[in-house]
This record gives sequence, structure tokens and C-alpha cells, in this order.
Amino acid sequence: MKRIIITLLLVLFCENLLAQKADLPEFLLNNDILQYENKSVQMPADIDCSNRHKHLKYDEIQSSAIIRRNYDVLTYDLYMDWYNVLNATDTMPKDRIYTGINKVSILIDSSNVTAIDFDAAELQIDSVFINNNKILLPQQPDSMILHIILPGTYNLGDTLHIEINYTYTNKENHGFYLYQKGQFIELGPPPYRDSIIIEERSAYTFSEPERARYWMPCNDVPYDKAFSKISVRVPKGYKVASNGNLLSVINDTISSTYNWIDPAPITTYLMVSTASKYKEFSDWYHKRNNPNDSIEIKYYVWEKDYKNTVDSVYNPDTTDAFKYNARHAFDGVVSMVENFAEKWVEYPFVKYGMATVPLFGGGMEHQTMTTIDRNWIRDRNVGGGISYWRLQEVMAHELAHMWLGDLITCATWKDIWINEGGATWGEAIYREKLWGNMNGYYSRMRETRRDYLRSGFYNQSIYDTPKDYIFWIMTSLTYAKASWVYHMLRTMLGDDVFFPAFRSLLNKYAYKSLETEDFKNSFKEDVPNPPVPFDTYFDQWVYHAGHPVYELSTLSRNFGAGSYDVIVHINQIQPASESIPAVFVAPVFLKFFGPDTVAYDTVINDKRRQFFIFNLGFQVDSVSIDSNLVLCELSSSIVAVRENKEIESISQVYPNPVSRGQNARFNAGFTGMNNVSVEIYDELGNKLETVYNGSLNEGNYTFEFNTREFVPGAYMILCRTGDKCRTFRFTVL
Ligand SMILES: [Zn+2]
Repeated sequence: MKRIIITLLLVLFCENLLAQKADLPEFLLNNDILQYENKSVQMPADIDCSNRHKHLKYDEIQSSAIIRRNYDVLTYDLYMDWYNVLNATDTMPKDRIYTGINKVSILIDSSNVTAIDFDAAELQIDSVFINNNKILLPQQPDSMILHIILPGTYNLGDTLHIEINYTYTNKENHGFYLYQKGQFIELGPPPYRDSIIIEERSAYTFSEPERARYWMPCNDVPYDKAFSKISVRVPKGYKVASNGNLLSVINDTISSTYNWIDPAPITTYLMVSTASKYKEFSDWYHKRNNPNDSIEIKYYVWEKDYKNTVDSVYNPDTTDAFKYNARHAFDGVVSMVENFAEKWVEYPFVKYGMATVPLFGGGMEHQTMTTIDRNWIRDRNVGGGISYWRLQEVMAHELAHMWLGDLITCATWKDIWINEGGATWGEAIYREKLWGNMNGYYSRMRETRRDYLRSGFYNQSIYDTPKDYIFWIMTSLTYAKASWVYHMLRTMLGDDVFFPAFRSLLNKYAYKSLETEDFKNSFKEDVPNPPVPFDTYFDQWVYHAGHPVYELSTLSRNFGAGSYDVIVHINQIQPASESIPAVFVAPVFLKFFGPDTVAYDTVINDKRRQFFIFNLGFQVDSVSIDSNLVLCELSSSIVAVRENKEIESISQVYPNPVSRGQNARFNAGFTGMNNVSVEIYDELGNKLETVYNGSLNEGNYTFEFNTREFVPGAYMILCRTGDKCRTFRFTVL
């Protein structure tokens, strides 16, 4: 027998319980729960136990985008009676009706509160009790809100127990989904051809971003985390998968009631109930710091999918001929948990699990119980579609959300990049493990860069992406580009600085929600002198749109006697606008190629036009920017300009330094007829003056120019013939 050591989560839970015992509803006071107090507890090594406050104090909230109600939910105690919806055989409107009771404990956090609102979309409200007294409901403003007038005036710190009895009557699959057994839906489009047939009657919820309100009355905003108990009554033979621990199953002659309790705070869009005639099986993850402790990973699949049986010969044009192989599909999950626990922090919840459902079209990181499309467990040796390995990575994506999305949660939908960028970056972290080296990591990051660059969404920031688009049209921003916000922090800071700061972020906001500013400030606290200030970093990459487009030109010089240098001009040529910065401040990673050697250097490019001079001890043939490390486009990635042989002799500028207003001159000798241009640039690479531009016969020339227009500083002269040039610098005092 495996045993589950109760973690910090339960410590946290029990502490809250004890602190608020008098105010909590019945379910949190029963002995089954409180007995956890006496069990051995162990802290996940990386979670800071001093960090137990669920919410920030008011004075910690600055320029927040959170729109708060006048209360904070402490607990949801939800009961839904799905007996009829699962016992029926059809999905007609009458078969979709269920009743529910949501007992919600709230903490008033404003003054003079006389009314409160819940989100309740198209739910029929049957009755409402406050502190066990039935109240009359006023005329409701619309079908999306439950408006309650309180039986008195309440103030900061008051708690109320509100029991809402309701009936779900929605005819459409929206938030609550119901499919009938034996139903043939359709044949999927190529290349993912798949007959979709419902093996067993299925009912499930799916809420992100704002659909929890369609199946239960609640405060349906991501910032408000609460403790939850979810109880669902189903016909005998059905199983219910949900958040947290399965506390009990109460049977009568015809039905079973599953009672799930999540000892970690949860937000409404991560709450789930999934019911079908499931086969249940488990894996165990052994904690990295104590292999004797383990976390159960529970899978819920249909019997046929577990047994890996196939009805008929494979034929993509007929129905239901695919093999499903749940055990094979899930065989990498334990190593995924190990990977994230190792790289990030210990797995932060009491269990993990996955439940397969029909017609889901993807995966959803419900807290401790991810919902996935049944298609994900199809035997990839049969038929076309997504590869087995890619599906491993998308399962890793959902698992990565347990840390980035569930442990720390976007406080508003403007901040969704934290969740989705993080989980997409997690795919690269997992590919790094699969390949056994950083090439795996970079290959996934290159794919997400490609997804972003191909999408063309260069004018929209990843912060505050239109809410309707965050999970489909603009995933190239909220997923792909956002994954680079994590990746570039990692490459800019280096693993030794980045990962401790990243773990610190997870500790600070564990079981809480956070906004983009919180994310930024956490890094500001932990990393004092970043190569690029975090205000600048987040402003350009998160709050603004676009990316730098670099144009590179280089000049390689040979001074003889083994003395060389190379001048690299970096120009940013992205079209600047209100949304796209004219200058992205970023480390630029340069690679210098010589006849038989390669050298690397990093510069902070913080101007739109800028040049750098490097003395490398060899003559550079070409220079390139490593685009694995900064999200950019290169308009010319490798430019080689070798020493100019046609300028036979050239002198330095004299006098040098030159006083402003004085004339300065230099001599140059040319072989043959030449088109010559002599130009003066400032330190930023801006061309200030053309001294000469025209053809010259063979011979020696003196070029003279006045420095009246030049403010004191360093300047550079470029003397070109054809496509070659030589440069030298002078100073104006
Ligand atoms: Zn995701």
C-alpha cells in the first residue's frame, strides 16, 4: 500500500480551519477533516511555510487591475444532483435539468455592505438562505447575476453563510456538457481524422474563462481563491472525478454521492466535476526529497480505452475504428512530475489526475484533475494525427499548469500570459528532459517563436489581450510569445540566478493569485542588478507589443602584426508606434566567426542605432546574432566586410582630439579609379555629414572638414570605396 503524506496544504488548511472554526460551515468541521491535524506533515522543500495568507493586504495593492466585489469567498460547499442527467438516455432539454446547492461562506471586505452579487448565468434560483434564514430575492437585474439584499448592514471582517438552491436548465453545452451513450458525432477533419463516438454517457464541467457561473452560482473571477468541497450524486456505476481528495463515497440502492475536498485554495475556473462510467487506475509519484512519500496520480478512462481493444479493422473512413491505449498514453506522466518538481518546486497539491472526456478538443488544467480530450489517448501507432511525443508534451503543458496557473494563478484575464506562457515554456523544459540536453529546450522555443512570428500579431501586447481571443485566435501571443517572457528571463539572468528567483516567485504567490506587476516586483526584489531593468523588460515584452528587428552590419579590420578588431553596427528597424517600442533594450548575443575559430560576446543593445567594437585576437570573417536567446527578427544575420585593399594608405585624423569649430583632416591614397564616399557618424551610428561623395583618380588626397556642428563627443569616419570601407575615430572637445 502506498501512503499519502499530508503536505503543507493540509497544514495550511487546518490552520485556516482552526482560525476560523466558528465561522465555517459544517463540512469543514467534521472529524474526517480535522483528523488530518494529527497526521505527520511534511513541508514541500521549496515552499516557504511562513507564506500562508491567502490574500494580499489592501495597502499592498497598487494600481491593480482587479475589480473586486465587496466580499471575498472563504469556502464553497457545492452539491449537484446529476442522477437524472446521467440516468436519462437522451440529451433533450428535460434530460439536462439538475438541481444544486451551493453553500458559500464569505468574508465582507468593505464597509456598509447591504447587498452582494454572485455570478449565476441563466440558472434558476429556487431559494436563498443567509445564516440559515430564508430571504426574499429582489427583482433580478438580468439573467447573469444573482443580486442578494442582505438582512442588515455588514462591515469589514463580517462573515456570512449563504446557501443558494438552484436548478440548472440550460439547453446548450456551455459550462456544463452532456453526451449520450452510443452517439456518433462526426468524423474529424484530416489530418486528425477520428470518428467520435460516445462509449459511455458523460457529463462534465469546463469553465475557463468565465463559464463556472453557468453551472453553479459563484464569485466567478480568477483572483478569488477559496476552499472547496464538491459533492455530486450520480447513478450507481458512474464515477465522479474532481478536485483534491476523495473524502467519501456514500451509496444508496440506486445512487452514489462522491464527496471531493480540495485542501488547497482554488479559483472557480479550476473547479471541475467529470462523471461517466469510468475505469480508474493510478500511478504514484515519489517525492524527490523523500521517496517514501508519494502522490497519487489518478486516471479516469473508459474501460475500452484502458483495455486497448479495437472494434474493427482500422479504416479512417468508417466510425470508431481507432485504438485507445490509456496506459501507454500516460506512461510518461510520473517522469513529467519528477521533472517539474526537480526544476521548479515540489509538486504542490495532494494528488494529480487526468480524466478523459469526449469532444473536449484539448486539455484543461483543473486543479489536481486535468480534463483531456479522449483523442489524446488514442494509440498513435494507428492512424494519423498528432504524434505520441507531441501529445506527451501537451500533457506536460497541462501538468506544468499545476505550478503556473493553479499554484500561482492569474489574478485577472489580462494576466493570462503568466499561466499559458508558463505552461508553454514548461513544454520546452520537458523537451529538454526528453532529449537529454538543451537542444530539446531550444527546439521547442524556436517552434513557439515561429508560431508568434507567423501570426503577425505585432501590434497587440500579451497583457490584456482581448478576452475572447486569449484561448484561440491570439494564442500566438498568450501562449507562444508569452513563453519567451520566461525563456528570455532565463537566458538573460542565467540559470544560477533565474531559477532561484523563479522558485521564489512560486513561494511568494503559492496558493494565491498574482498580477503582472506582482510577477515583475518579485523578480525586482530577488535580482538586484539585472542586465536589463525589470521595469524596462516587462514594459517592452509584456505591456507593449512587437519585437526588435535587427539589422547588422560589420567591419572587420586588420592592423597588421596580429592586431585586429571588428566593428558591429546594430540597428533596430522595427516600425515603431504607440504599441511597438522604437527601442527594445535587450542583451544581444553575438557570434564571431574567424578562419578557424568562433568567439561569443554579449552586449546590451539599448539604442535604436548603436555600434560596438570588439578586439578578439583574430580576423573576423562574419558575425551573427544568436536568435535562440532574444525574440527578434534578423534583417541581415551575417554580414562580412573584409579589410579594404583599395585604400592603399590612410592617415589618422589630425588634430585628434580636435576643438569644436576647428578644421580637421586626414590623408588617403587610392589605387585605380574609385567611387569614394567619406561620411561622419556619431556614437549612436547616426550619419551626420557627408564629407565627400564622388569618383577620384588614383593618387593621394587630403580630406578636410569643419567640426562646428559637432557637440563634444566621440565620432567615427567611414571611408568607402565600392562596398568596402575603413573607419577611424576622433574626438571633439
Ligand atoms: Zn494551457
